[in-house]
Amino acid sequence: MNYSGILDQIHRDLKPWLGKGRVASYIPELANISAERFGMAIVRTTGEVFRTGEADTRFSIQSISKLFACTLAFQLLGDDLWQRVGREPSGTAFNSLVQLEAEQGKPRNPFINAGALVVTDVLCRRFVKAETALVEFIRRLSGERGIGYDAAVAQSELQHAHRNRAMAHFMASFGNLKMPPDLVVDAYTRQCAISMSSVELARAALFLANRGAVPSTGEQIVDASSAKRLSALMLTCGTYDAAGDFVYRVGLPAKSGVGGGIVAVLPGEMAVCVWSPGLDANGNSLAGTLALEWLTTFTGQSIF
Ligand code: GLN
Repeated sequence: MNYSGILDQIHRDLKPWLGKGRVASYIPELANISAERFGMAIVRTTGEVFRTGEADTRFSIQSISKLFACTLAFQLLGDDLWQRVGREPSGTAFNSLVQLEAEQGKPRNPFINAGALVVTDVLCRRFVKAETALVEFIRRLSGERGIGYDAAVAQSELQHAHRNRAMAHFMASFGNLKMPPDLVVDAYTRQCAISMSSVELARAALFLANRGAVPSTGEQIVDASSAKRLSALMLTCGTYDAAGDFVYRVGLPAKSGVGGGIVAVLPGEMAVCVWSPGLDANGNSLAGTLALEWLTTFTGQSIF
C-alpha cells in the first residue's frame, strides 16, 4: 500500500476545503489558530510512519483526551466503570445537559463532556493530580517524554467553563461525582489542554490497533478484549451526535476534539491522526473528516 502517495494526494485534493469550517471560539485561546492549518500521520503497527503537512506540529487535543482518560479509568475499574457512565450514543451535542436530569445524573457515554467528567472524577480519586497521571500515561503510550498540557489553553477555557461546571455540580447532586466538582472540572480542563502532534497521537492510539499492546515496547495497556470494547465505544460515540454519519463515511473507530484533531484506528494495521482546526456544526474537524473518508476510500481499507 502506497500510504505516502495516498497522503500526498489527500493533502492536494483537500486544499479547497482547508479554511472551511469554524475554529472553536468558545475557548478564546483556540480561536487564534488559523483554520487553514493541516497535518496528517499514519503510524503502522510495524512502526512505519507516514506524514503529510504539519504532522509534527502540536495542537490542543481537547476531547481526544477522553479516549486516554477512559482507557486509564477502565484499566482501574474494569466493568464497574459502567455503573456510573453508560455505553450508548447520546444523539446530543458533546456539551449537552438535557439527558442528565431524565437519566439521574448518569451520562450516556464517556466521550461526551458529562461522561468524561465522571471518568476524570474516577482519576481524581485515584491520583493526587489526575491531569499529571494522564500526561504520564500518554507519554508511556506514545513514547514521547516531552508531552504536556498548555497552561494558557487550560486557563482560557477555565474562565468560560460554565457549562462543564454546571454539569459537574448537577451530577454531584445525584451522587455521581465523588470528588469536589470544581476540582474535577479543573483536572478535566487541563487534560483537554494537552498538546500533541498528529504523529504523537497516532502513536498513542496504536495500542488499540494492536490488541491492547504498545507495538514499540510490547507493554500490554489493556487486554485484547478491552481494546475491542474501547474501539467499539469510539465507533458508536467518538464523534458525538455525528457518530452515525461519521462511521458511514469513514468506517473506522475514531475520537475527535474541538482543537480540530481526529484519531482513528484500523485494527491490525494502523492508527491515523488528522488535524485541521475548522470544525463542522457538530464540532468535528470538517477537512479532517473528509481526509479520513478519502483515506478509507483510496486504500479500500476500513473495519467493514
Ligand atoms: N474542552 C472542551 C469542552 O469541554 C472539549 C470539547 C471537545 O473537544 N468536544 O468543551
